Amino acid sequence: MLTYFRAKARPEQLPAALTLDAHLVVDGDCWVYDGARNHNGYAIMSLGHKKVARAHRVAYAIAHGPIPFGFHIDHVWKAGCRSRACCNPRHLEAITQAENNRRAAEVRKLRTLTVQPVLAVAA
Ligand SMILES: [Zn+2]
Repeated sequence: MLTYFRAKARPEQLPAALTLDAHLVVDGDCWVYDGARNHNGYAIMSLGHKKVARAHRVAYAIAHGPIPFGFHIDHVWKAGCRSRACCNPRHLEAITQAENNRRAAEVRKLRTLTVQPVLAVAA
């Protein structure tokens, strides 16, 4: 069990931090939340009072501070992140929708480039 978020949390964030620390599994460089996922594969966690949040956004807020309004929290492919359930603060970055779209297109292109040679051999 990690103690990272417990050590970083402000008092009002402590319950969420304890939940994060209890549910994170180290997988390479990623800290993967082992709880529930939403339909897109993002880890979700309860914040009490029937409130649910995506775990990586909670992790970002505890580690780095409030998320600027309208910003997305990207799982940074170039930092080695390969899981939408990852909560490693070093893999998370607050970015605009436009930057998120640009990075998603870049990752799709990289995945295509790594898949194509396999398909060529199989053909
Ligand atoms: Zn990661």
